[in-house]
Amino acid sequence: MARAMLPADTAALRAALLNWYDAHARSLPWRSPPGSERRTDPYRVWLSEVMLQQTTVPHATPYFERFTTRWPTVIDLANAEDSDLMAAWAGLGYYARARNLLACARAVARDHGGVFPDTEAGLLALPGVGAYTAAAVAAIAFDRPANVVDGNVERVVARLFAVETPVPAARPELKRLAATLVTDDRPGDWAQALMDLGSSVCRPKSPLCLMCPVSGWCAGRATGAPERYPLKAAKAARPHRQGIAWVLRDGQGRVALVRRPDKGLLGGMVCLPTGDWSTGPLDDRPPVAADWIDAGAVEHVFTHFSLTLSVRVAEGQGDHLWTSEAEALAALPTVFRKALERGLAMSRV
Ligand code: SF4
Repeated sequence: MARAMLPADTAALRAALLNWYDAHARSLPWRSPPGSERRTDPYRVWLSEVMLQQTTVPHATPYFERFTTRWPTVIDLANAEDSDLMAAWAGLGYYARARNLLACARAVARDHGGVFPDTEAGLLALPGVGAYTAAAVAAIAFDRPANVVDGNVERVVARLFAVETPVPAARPELKRLAATLVTDDRPGDWAQALMDLGSSVCRPKSPLCLMCPVSGWCAGRATGAPERYPLKAAKAARPHRQGIAWVLRDGQGRVALVRRPDKGLLGGMVCLPTGDWSTGPLDDRPPVAADWIDAGAVEHVFTHFSLTLSVRVAEGQGDHLWTSEAEALAALPTVFRKALERGLAMSRV
């Protein structure tokens, strides 16, 4: 259950938050300033939103700058080689998103003449574009009254209305409540104002209620413990897996890589040779017979499991993608880059 809000309160809350946004909007490379006549390029909005679904603004910003320098338009991105894009994405995680990014860019280039559809429904029909991204691009790039609900917005809404249902079960209710605040008036700025409030004022652990422009309407604050919201259901323990990454070097500064199958975890990425990662016995079958040396292990946490990845190093030959160490370090996804760094450090001792 949530506290109700009267229409007059909704209007006053909206005005207060938009005024605050006019003065305090974050300056981000993919944004137009509040109230700007010129809407933001939908390509830049879309790209930033896909990147921000899995990482923070400080982490995503240099990736965004690199992508838009190298591929300034959606048509440029559509023409990118798969392997170049996957390498540029390395470190952003969720590699299926990089493949979806390419599929979407190519659909926009091929089916829409390089112009993004300007409605939520049209955007949603693009490959790899989900409800959140479609709403965000429709609102921010095209000023459509779309209901944009990310994690920050969920938190703000849960507090504003003191929603007592724990997430994830509360998500439909949070979305419905967020929709009661959306109108035709400046919908793009409204979406970004809520995001900014969640990011800089209504922070997860310590909300700055004394600085908050909507504190007068906040039922969560009225309870005296707004940080309690959104309530969380008890978490299931994350399973722990183990595996081995094999660092095979050829003695000429090159390292052996393999390309993973398109489907599944890190699909389509170049990686170090590795076996199964399981909660059971360690898969210790090496890719080639050699004098393998134990180089310790690295730890990594994926969304659905944590991993101890042991690292073994040897010199040898094999039917692999032989790549310079520097190029491999730049292209590998984070877990394998950590393993390669460990293996190289060991082999230089
Ligand atoms: Fe968040 Fe506090 Fe503002 Fe409520 S008053 S929206 S809890 S910062």
